Amino acid sequence: MAFPRGPSVAGIVWTPVTFTQAGGAVPALLAGPLLVLAMVLLLFTLPVTLPVVALLHKRDRARLRTAASRTQCVRCGHMLGPAALDAADAAEMEAMAALRRQHPYDRMRIVRRSDARCVICGTDYRWDERRRELHLVPGRSSSE
Ligand SMILES: [Zn+2]
Repeated sequence: MAFPRGPSVAGIVWTPVTFTQAGGAVPALLAGPLLVLAMVLLLFTLPVTLPVVALLHKRDRARLRTAASRTQCVRCGHMLGPAALDAADAAEMEAMAALRRQHPYDRMRIVRRSDARCVICGTDYRWDERRRELHLVPGRSSSE
């Protein structure tokens, strides 16, 4: 299949490549039916995948809650507990709201910075999924 050729810039002939032409992997005739097939498969697997995702999320939150109830704040010695998770959630929501107020028309990629926050001194902790531990976020504390 020959692609239509575009203009030449500095000796390089470029051709706009569409989704269906990328690498020639999906011929244009099949792109529509494959997209429909993918949508149908997604629709039929949703009743299975959604509960699985919900269960995995619930399991991860339980692990985080367990780790928080076993972790002592490295700055003040207070046991973190579930309140630290709520405090971190509230702080993240507040930070996101402030960002939206400052940049109301911008699209942003938000990265969570804290999973637990000590309710006494405001020290932030990140969740290490692999080790199932909370680690101090270097240089971050609401009191700083
Ligand atoms: Zn503390």
